[in-house]
Amino acid sequence: MVRKCPVCEKGEFVEVQDIVMEIEGYIFVVSGHRCTKCKEEFPYGKETEKVIGVAKRLGVWPEPLKLYRHLSKSAGGLMLRVPVDLERQMNLQEGCEVAIAKLGNKLVIEPL
Ligand SMILES: [Zn+2]
Repeated sequence: MVRKCPVCEKGEFVEVQDIVMEIEGYIFVVSGHRCTKCKEEFPYGKETEKVIGVAKRLGVWPEPLKLYRHLSKSAGGLMLRVPVDLERQMNLQEGCEVAIAKLGNKLVIEPL
């Protein structure tokens, strides 16, 4: 049975093996369906899961965007502890130089 495309509702699905997914510069090629009309691509669920699994192992799958921490007081001023998973993911080390920028009411910490 041929499935109709839910996006344009005109095209039909054909099986393809060359759907390209890009995550943080890593290219994954997976199989799934492509619409003959609008060319919208629908990777198979299990393929998407596989890519997510690999991306997580590579440390490139976007982690929860917000982490909550309290600032603590030390002799020199306020201290911010970096969560261990971020430390690993971004390969941060003691002594690593960072740039701190104020963006509106946000602080952006960028390892150099
Ligand atoms: Zn379509």
